[in-house]
Amino acid sequence: PPVYKQRYSAVQQILLDYRWKKYMRKVVEFGCAEFRMFIYLKNLLSIEKVVFVDIAEDILVENSFKIKPLTIDYLKRRANPLVVDVYAGSVSSPDANLLHTDAVIAIELIEHLYPDTLDALPYNIFAFMQPKIAVFTTPNADFNILFPNFKKFRHYDHKFEWSKEQFQSWAINITHRFPQYTVYFEDIGFGPKGTEHLGACSQMAVFVKSSLVYDWPFNRALSRFDKSFTLIDQSI
Ligand code: SAM
Repeated sequence: PPVYKQRYSAVQQILLDYRWKKYMRKVVEFGCAEFRMFIYLKNLLSIEKVVFVDIAEDILVENSFKIKPLTIDYLKRRANPLVVDVYAGSVSSPDANLLHTDAVIAIELIEHLYPDTLDALPYNIFAFMQPKIAVFTTPNADFNILFPNFKKFRHYDHKFEWSKEQFQSWAINITHRFPQYTVYFEDIGFGPKGTEHLGACSQMAVFVKSSLVYDWPFNRALSRFDKSFTLIDQSI
């Protein structure tokens, strides 16, 4: 499948992770554009609410027919009805409608942001919203040398394109500022054989609220061996 579809599937797979799948009730997608991710969210039956946010109001209005229920949806009703809200607004703006969100999605959004908006984004998502997980994808600049006649960026509206190292340091820095989150990375859309060292076309960061995974046996086992105390005295 084309890379853009691989991105939607990769994000959908994250939401389906067995560790938090059942908690995914409210999902917010920033920079949703033409609602292409919608079908991938609609198929996840745990989701009860999807909130779409984009700064381009005209795109939202033009495409809003895509989120209306289909005939099949009336014939085959979900056990829990799906409510879909669409808002014009910025990923950097706190809004009461964003509270109680389980998952945040931002697919190929951050590279469109000016520095002030990019700076404000972590406060809105990780301090104000505090979702259980947050997924970001962005182009991998290391991969650009594979495009013939490549100029500066893949798209005229991109404000930057980050190497794997740049993207990972942005994300890891966020976890230092908001230590209740951990982050891991995945590549999306690999190139031809022999180009694996460049990574893939897109890169994805998955932030996870640590409290969500603490209860899992793996983490419990790890913490049993953790030594964070200093032994002061021991009488035998
Ligand atoms: N996520 C979409 C997809 O995968 O099909 C495509 C995203 S498109 C490349 C980037 C989108 O981000 C545009 O629709 C643009 O209007 C939106 N955008 C730009 N700045 C934004 C901001 N500050 N807040 C929310 N959306 C923004």
